[in-house]
Amino acid sequence: MKELEPTPPPIVRNQHEAIRELFTRNVVPSYGRFELVLSHGAGSYLFDVSGRRYLDLGSGIAVCCLGHAHPAITTALVEQSQKLIHVSNLYFTEPQGRLAAELVKRIGPGKCFFANSGAEANEGLFKLARKFGHDEGRYEVLTAVNSFHGRTLGGIAATGQDKVKKGFEPIMTGFRHIPFNDLAAARAAISPATAAIMIEGVQGEGGVTPATAEYLLGLRALCDEKKLLLLMDGIQCGHYRTGKFQSFQRILEGVPGGENFLPDGLSMAKSLGGGFPIGAFWIREPYADLLGPGTHGSTFGGTPLACAVALKVLEVIEAEKLDANARKLGEWLQHELDRLAREYPAVVKRSRGLGFMLGLELAEKIPAFAGSDKTAALQFVNRLHAVGVMTVPAGTQIVRLLPPLNLKPQEAGEGIAKIEEVVKDLAGAR
Ligand SMILES: *Cc1c(COP(=O)(O)O)cnc(C)c1O
Repeated sequence: MKELEPTPPPIVRNQHEAIRELFTRNVVPSYGRFELVLSHGAGSYLFDVSGRRYLDLGSGIAVCCLGHAHPAITTALVEQSQKLIHVSNLYFTEPQGRLAAELVKRIGPGKCFFANSGAEANEGLFKLARKFGHDEGRYEVLTAVNSFHGRTLGGIAATGQDKVKKGFEPIMTGFRHIPFNDLAAARAAISPATAAIMIEGVQGEGGVTPATAEYLLGLRALCDEKKLLLLMDGIQCGHYRTGKFQSFQRILEGVPGGENFLPDGLSMAKSLGGGFPIGAFWIREPYADLLGPGTHGSTFGGTPLACAVALKVLEVIEAEKLDANARKLGEWLQHELDRLAREYPAVVKRSRGLGFMLGLELAEKIPAFAGSDKTAALQFVNRLHAVGVMTVPAGTQIVRLLPPLNLKPQEAGEGIAKIEEVVKDLAGAR
């Protein structure tokens, strides 16, 4: 692979080693990290401590929706921090009220609660489900196989992947998993204890799999029939990533009956703060007052600072029509990934996803990967790092593209050219 930048001087290599050493000695090794030490970013690019530049098509796992070091975020942080950072939820503040109104406006009649992360937002929805079913002795939440709902005890119980549960038994009770996009299986799984069904609109960690329109509409009808809450985890697929504010709005676009679809609860986080930590959940109107005074809380939830940043992120997305950008450039990217699948079938199996939530599914048994025990996805992501592109693996075979919503056409072109360089190399077509 050709070097893009001159070899960095030895002193800089030492900085990489020094920081690695701090982690080895002091940071809990719960993450499998790539050998990159990052120092700063600008727009769609990240730089490591040796000054090497990477096109960031991962956005910190769908978080940095305006790219890095966006001046509007900096200004919002500075201006709000000079006024008020935090006061606790014993009091009212304007930014939290305004952000709730902006979210309600984009989703539907209901109310919002603010938290700090995705897992915490989902925990709130699990509590909502238990409160909802409590007087009838119902508490169970059905979630999908291959789903991902966070790393708290409730989150790993809800997540439909064994690998997150291993070693943490006994797993919290009250969750069972159903095959995704299978309405009959959902119906068959409902028990007298079931209170809710939770799904992602587009499964993220599970491999970039969108729900079908029929599944969404079918689950809505099923939940109405059985008096269950329909909960959606929009943490990764939400916030305009698919081209609409929420993925269900994109999936159901133009579908008869889709215009009236709403879940009963919806979790948000990741892109909501553009990189500043904030999570939230929305509850549809009839259930919006179920969590009454004293039933739920979070010290840092909805601080004026976090909410001011989230408001600014929404303002920029709207002003710059980044929803349309995600849709249009996303379509182009997917078209190009499909072309790679056609031209290099021994390396790329197919594309997956919607808008700026895309997956490149790798072919099984790529010969160049045979010598390593690392998954194909990891090896591919590593090769992309070597040519200066950052992406995110999902499962063993899928490489996710989750670019910032303000990615430029020329950057998308650069990304595809570099992905093709890696694919071509693996296909041995050089
Ligand atoms: C990332 C993610 C979560 C967990 O969010 P955290 O902020 O890491 O707690 C939950 N659900 C989905 C779909 C996610 O992608």
